[in-house]
Amino acid sequence: SNLATPLVNDSSGITPKRSIGYMSSLKSASDVRSLAFSGDICLEDLHFSYPLRPDMEILKGLDLKLKCGTVTALVGPSGAGKSTVVQLLARFYEPTSGRITVAGEDLRSFDKSEWARVVSIVNQEPVLFSVSVGENIAYGLPDEYVSKEDVIKAAKAANVHDFIISLPQGYDTLVGERGGLLSGGQRQRVAIARALLKNAPILILDEATSALDTVSERLVQDALNVLMKGRTTLVIAHRLSTVQNANQIALCSDGKISELGTHLELLEKNGQYASLVGTQRLAFE
Ligand code: ATP
Repeated sequence: SNLATPLVNDSSGITPKRSIGYMSSLKSASDVRSLAFSGDICLEDLHFSYPLRPDMEILKGLDLKLKCGTVTALVGPSGAGKSTVVQLLARFYEPTSGRITVAGEDLRSFDKSEWARVVSIVNQEPVLFSVSVGENIAYGLPDEYVSKEDVIKAAKAANVHDFIISLPQGYDTLVGERGGLLSGGQRQRVAIARALLKNAPILILDEATSALDTVSERLVQDALNVLMKGRTTLVIAHRLSTVQNANQIALCSDGKISELGTHLELLEKNGQYASLVGTQRLAFE
């Protein structure tokens, strides 16, 4: 077992009885947390159709292992099912068949709200609220756990502190409707600061395709590198730099993983991934 904290004390050699039926025995919050921190995530033979289109199978037996604390880049053509994988991992939908496990435990034995606490999702279009920039960073976290110092620490790590203190009211500056007073890159860094503060062990990243200027792109990329460090990360990757630095690259095509390996391994294989890199069409716009 690769668990830091064993679930059961098995030094006696006796296998303890487990309750039958995981639906009736959801794991405790601390179990969910320690499993998420220490275990691999396995997507096993996932099949999936959206409820509104039961005739159209989107995932067709997808297998993928996300090794604990490492980065997996998911690439592939538009419509291949990359966002669908993310939706199942986030538990917005349940697989039609197959399963997702964390440290060998079926995800369905985890309470959904506990799962939400151990997963951070950073999208290309982060949702900001019409409150101050500081409140946006702390958004969704219980007040009693978040100090002003922690917010500033997260903002510094996300490369957004210097910008914030240049604002008229610093951390108390209102960001406007949906964060409209900030640029795209600034909004993304605020969202990254929020994820740093949440400090969840699992990270789902939907990388932006939209062009940021070079300086902003660099600030966002550096902030993302800080955020990904040590977390089990699945990134829908559009930037070649992200893909090259990932621990493994999974090429999703037609609802399955068709190629898996490091950047160099897949280049050597000279298959679909290599031809994508050759034509610089990783984003598949
Ligand atoms: P892209 O790179 O363009 O974002 P993708 O690889 O992420 O593509 P998905 O978004 O997972 O692909 O879509 C896979 C298929 O599922 C597409 O044919 C899409 O039309 C379909 N699909 C996505 N969301 C839904 C939904 N809510 N209901 C029905 N079909 C959907």
